[in-house]
Amino acid sequence: MSLPKIDETYFINFLVDLLNIPSPTGFAEPAIEFMEKELSKYKQLQLSRTRKGALVAAWQVESDLPPVALTAHVDTLGAVVKEIKSNGRLKLSRIGGIQWNTVETEGVWIFTSKGEKVRGSVLIDTASGHIYGPAGGETPRNDDHMEVRLDARTTSEKETRELGINIGDCVAFDPRVEVTHGFIRSRFLDDKACVANLVAAIKSMADSGQGPVRSVYFLISNYEEVGHGAAAGIPSDVAELVTVDMAVVGNGQESDEFHATLCIKDSGGPYHEGLNKKMRALAEQHKIPYKTDVYPLYGSDGEAFWRAGGDVALSLIGPGIDASHNYERAHMDGLNATTNWIMAYLLSE
Ligand SMILES: [Zn+2]
Repeated sequence: MSLPKIDETYFINFLVDLLNIPSPTGFAEPAIEFMEKELSKYKQLQLSRTRKGALVAAWQVESDLPPVALTAHVDTLGAVVKEIKSNGRLKLSRIGGIQWNTVETEGVWIFTSKGEKVRGSVLIDTASGHIYGPAGGETPRNDDHMEVRLDARTTSEKETRELGINIGDCVAFDPRVEVTHGFIRSRFLDDKACVANLVAAIKSMADSGQGPVRSVYFLISNYEEVGHGAAAGIPSDVAELVTVDMAVVGNGQESDEFHATLCIKDSGGPYHEGLNKKMRALAEQHKIPYKTDVYPLYGSDGEAFWRAGGDVALSLIGPGIDASHNYERAHMDGLNATTNWIMAYLLSE
């Protein structure tokens, strides 16, 4: 059996659009809405929402086999306004532990509770080279010293509040998406790349008139970066869960941007040996380029479900993402391998 063809142009356009929708954890609704609109194009899918706001797409078929599930998350790292300084600038509280040095000088949008957007950028409080010189480079990049300079006329807390900005407002960092020679460079490929893998697999199967051999639930989760995304939302009759999330690329890692990876163990411990064997066999059968790997500082939504009491066989697959939680990069080879692996899994017993 050969797998349905992947529409790469569609994949890239969809992924770029999704990357450009700000969706820090806790403020991911615009990305969930975008997904809802996209997946509603497929009459095979029944869409619903969890109370927590995640999206569930069910593709139900006649089968004696128990249903399975796949999950990927649309929420990303980000921040909220923690404090308005007396000079009108903002201090932030980070969401999901973004490292300050990776976003220094990055553009941001502040989304006010009244629905306004204010533009700004992240700077160290010793930014001017003509005032601080090399000493500016020595200032620790931490919550106390990083600030947002607003692109609005304000030099006081009062003026900033008059812009509509309040404590707790969402702050989204620009993704800076660029596509070059098969490489996709952007923040938040974790995990929007894998959401695009799921959508591309659904599209390829639907376009070719094929469907899963047993019922499948796709959970698009919205709280992964803080550790409990898929803790709820997987129906209890699901027998297997495949989490689709980025593979760690860098020093000491086996994963790269040109393969998909099966994660054997991460910070949360080993995954399910039986389902892993099945995933490896499928990759080999369909000649999908893949690696196995161990991730040093990593937890997944599937593990969140396990910890919440979920009784499933669990695997984790995904494309290699270089410089994760930093300025990330993926390649179409690893992305296509992941889409193909998802299809191979859904089209076989
Ligand atoms: Zn992730």
